[in-house]
Amino acid sequence: MQKPIIAANWKMHKTIEEAVDFARELKAEASTFTDRTVIIAPPFTALRPVADILRGSTVQLAAQTMAYAESGAFTGEISAAMIADAGCSYVLIGHSERRNLFGETDGQVNKKVKLALKTGLIPVVCVGETLEQRESGRTLSTVEGQIKEGLRNVSADDIRKIIVAYEPVWAIGTGKTATPEQAVEVHIFIKEILSGYAGIGDGRTVPVIYGGSVNEGTIDELMAHEGINGVLVGGASLKPASFMNIVRFRSSATV
Ligand code: PEP
Repeated sequence: MQKPIIAANWKMHKTIEEAVDFARELKAEASTFTDRTVIIAPPFTALRPVADILRGSTVQLAAQTMAYAESGAFTGEISAAMIADAGCSYVLIGHSERRNLFGETDGQVNKKVKLALKTGLIPVVCVGETLEQRESGRTLSTVEGQIKEGLRNVSADDIRKIIVAYEPVWAIGTGKTATPEQAVEVHIFIKEILSGYAGIGDGRTVPVIYGGSVNEGTIDELMAHEGINGVLVGGASLKPASFMNIVRFRSSATV
């Protein structure tokens, strides 16, 4: 049985001091949530200081993105090795804000996934449709394309290590959470696609987490559904009290 995954994406929020204070609070509470994997993704500047605070706790650290190249003349970029060096075990890849605001392509997502895995980082590969794609009946084909291109030529052994985050773009930062039924339909579909990869066996063992306006009021209902293996939380993860309430969701459902 895998533990449910509760991940926080702080986006471009928090100074080093604010991030460190939050991490201290989370670490102090860590003994109350040993049956779930808690991951936080602070901005790059806070990674190392937060890693220093979290050392010895079960709380895991993620970066919000990484470069698609290993090293070299890529001004402003941060490599997988640098992220690992800063203390991260996870990295978000292909978040819709990276795709939509910074032109990240499925091809770049693919390079990043391979590089992250080669570096020993666990990629959290984000996929999801826009409102227009959903309304024109293209939700599943959009997600299928993102998964197939993003994981092109990734070995079955490596696919077993990743986490997929289904984040409908229309639900991110909008206050509109997908219904559990909408999320479950896509989660099951993603697991079916993964099952089709040669040598992977049962794709249902790959964790698929949901992201999109998750908050204290919606977490229990979402996590009560088998197939929703966790959540990626943006806005509601910024305040320690509300994030802790999400981390301590009531349902005892496990993957
Ligand atoms: C996200 O950015 O991954 C996210 C899910 O944001 P929010 O919870 O604010 O919709």
